[in-house]
Amino acid sequence: MFEKLFSRLEELYPELVDFRRDLHMYPELSHKEINTPKKIADFLSNLGLEVRTEVGGRGVVGILKGGKPGKTIALRADFDALPIQDQKEVEYKSRIPGVMHACGHDLHTAGLLGVAKVLSENREELEGSVVFVHQFAEEVIPGGAKFMVEDGCLDGVDVVYGAHVSSTDPLGVVGVREGNAMANGDMFEIEITGKGGHAASPHLAVDPLVVGSQLHLNLQQIVSRQVNPVKPAVVTVTSINGGEGFNVIPDKVKLTGTVRTFDEDVRDWIESSIGQIANTTCSGMGASVKYNYVRGYPAVKNNPRETARVEKIAKRLFGEEKVQQIPTQMGMEDFAYYLKELPGTFFWVGGAMENKEEVYPHHHPRFNVQEKAILYIGKLFIATVFDYLSKEKKEDLSEVNS
Ligand code: MN
Repeated sequence: MFEKLFSRLEELYPELVDFRRDLHMYPELSHKEINTPKKIADFLSNLGLEVRTEVGGRGVVGILKGGKPGKTIALRADFDALPIQDQKEVEYKSRIPGVMHACGHDLHTAGLLGVAKVLSENREELEGSVVFVHQFAEEVIPGGAKFMVEDGCLDGVDVVYGAHVSSTDPLGVVGVREGNAMANGDMFEIEITGKGGHAASPHLAVDPLVVGSQLHLNLQQIVSRQVNPVKPAVVTVTSINGGEGFNVIPDKVKLTGTVRTFDEDVRDWIESSIGQIANTTCSGMGASVKYNYVRGYPAVKNNPRETARVEKIAKRLFGEEKVQQIPTQMGMEDFAYYLKELPGTFFWVGGAMENKEEVYPHHHPRFNVQEKAILYIGKLFIATVFDYLSKEKKEDLSEVNS
């Protein structure tokens, strides 16, 4: 049965590549997506799907009702781009200055539309429904997922899957991770106010640069001395700004940084510990402090059963050696919001460029991936849909019968 569906997906490949390249040439920043959701909604409408637009803001949801009753699966692809100048030389490079698809969200979108087209042409064979969740603003906290969930994109849905292409893993290599996959991602800002003055008269000033340096070092004690070593945590200061002239002690210094965790108790502890250390360090040195902690995406916690399902299917489709349990990552993804509501899993599909010199990490100005990853993501989604809808339905019936 998959042979027919997969060969149809392959037949659609040139059209999907065109769609991806069009998004690639005309990328749109998070929360500013206008034409991208229009193009997606048009594509889904042409398939005869029930389409909702402006879901949670700029999201698009397509609903495909199968020929037979059953459960409902959601598949998610994000579609926003990044504030990066495209520096690679390809004919489809970004035409929008300073904006670029440097994380592969254009490819996710094309892949999911391919799945929608193949499944819609075979809707009679579906024992249940499929909801296509096209999400805006994945790259910027608070992210589009939260708003789409609040606006009901998962209403009536039983399970949710998401895929992300990887620019560094070989084409078609699938990475799954049950449980802790990606971290809680938070941000903080600390503003230190000292007393400015002449650089030659430090005794008349309170130098916020020294206070800030001391604070930076003191914050290193949180992970090394306060957090249980078997629980993952990161506290990174990412900027220290203050001062300009070589002979002036400034008034203020600002530190910003990020915190990554998995356990809520560790998250709570670190949030308050940074504040406490900032207060004691600054007051002890005669400076005052303002502290702001902003919670970002929650952790991506993959359901073990659904992760095992995708792992098993991927092994069957692509070969045992192509599928691996990958380590927990401290990066973040707002797919977490869907997983807070429902069982499901978020997995990675390799799409590294063939030529090693063209392999760059995500969010790099020369980022690119092999478009064939569309087919791997598409096939894995299609097979997962049929596996879930047929098996989960049968189990339910046997429960009713027993
Ligand atoms: Mn991404």
